[in-house]
Amino acid sequence: MKSIIEFYPHLHSRKKKVVITTHQKPDGDAMGSSLGLYHFLKNLEHDVQVISPTNWAGFLDWMPGADMVIDFEENKEISKEIIAGADWIFCLDFNILHRTKNLESFLEESAAIKILIDHHQQPQEEAFAYGISDTGKSSTCEMIYDFIVQSGNSDKLNLDIAACLYTGVMTDTGSFRFPSTKASVHRMIAHLLELGLHQTIIHENIYDNFLESRLRFIGNALLNRMDVLYEYNTAIMSIPKADIYKFDIKTGDTEGLVNYLLTIQGIKFAAIVIDRDEERKWSFRSKGGFDVNTFARLHFEGGGHLNAAGGRSSDPLEKTVNKFYQVIKEYEQQLQ
Ligand code: 5GP
Ligand code: MN
Repeated sequence: MKSIIEFYPHLHSRKKKVVITTHQKPDGDAMGSSLGLYHFLKNLEHDVQVISPTNWAGFLDWMPGADMVIDFEENKEISKEIIAGADWIFCLDFNILHRTKNLESFLEESAAIKILIDHHQQPQEEAFAYGISDTGKSSTCEMIYDFIVQSGNSDKLNLDIAACLYTGVMTDTGSFRFPSTKASVHRMIAHLLELGLHQTIIHENIYDNFLESRLRFIGNALLNRMDVLYEYNTAIMSIPKADIYKFDIKTGDTEGLVNYLLTIQGIKFAAIVIDRDEERKWSFRSKGGFDVNTFARLHFEGGGHLNAAGGRSSDPLEKTVNKFYQVIKEYEQQLQ
């Protein structure tokens, strides 16, 4: 993988067919970085299409350009055609092709130049022609901002781009409180505010935009689905399918739930597993040095960052939860 800096001169080449893609079930950072880059490359007169491997949370629908994003699962034929004909494919907020789920083989087969911009650990570098992988960055949105500014195109920033990029930085930093929120993040946000961004509206769009049923679901989960293992300074929550149906839970409704567990005094490790149709999906969070990226990789086919990672299991819910109760024993020392 060549440095992203070597890609900058190509940005001003004649109109290119560009695909931007991201990980399945895109979150605020995945969608924000994809759409931020989308508006930027459109400003440079390229022909751009964002393709998401799956659907996304409804609370991201307000984002400028979200209505132009293709959901691969809903539009397979047209997506395949666009990917096959692309000159460039930008891969954002993931670094290993299988995180695009059913899109993986089409991305592999495409002859397009693939460019990685991402902040997760252990990138699959050989899959990309150009790129930047920086685990020190708060979010992929911050990296898109750097991409625009460092390539000498600050004048192309506009309010649409600002709204998209602000969203991803806000969601990936827990509203600017995680250790990844360096001074550079606040400098970037200051610049976006100077462009005229209304951050309060963005916050409300993302965090105050749910249905009553989601709040009742959270109440039930906290009351009935949480187990606190004080000897391991760990809290775990397991959500059965029955709850998903009862409260009519949709994509995105469970996002952030894991963070409640970390609000308990002394808790250093939080885990939540959700019984989805196709798999059991794990989210892991930690405070301090406990490395959930490694934990997710070793035990639950996942990965991510030091303090936030995800994983999966094909086992039934009870079995994957039991596995967690077994493996946690190995970490008693580390979690003191
Ligand atoms: P979340 O728990 O919010 O789904 O994910 C937390 C972090 O881990 C995010 O940065 C996400 O991209 C990453 N992540 C989630 N699931 C997986 C997975 O299955 N594999 C890998 N490598 N990363 C994941
Ligand atoms: Mn991210």
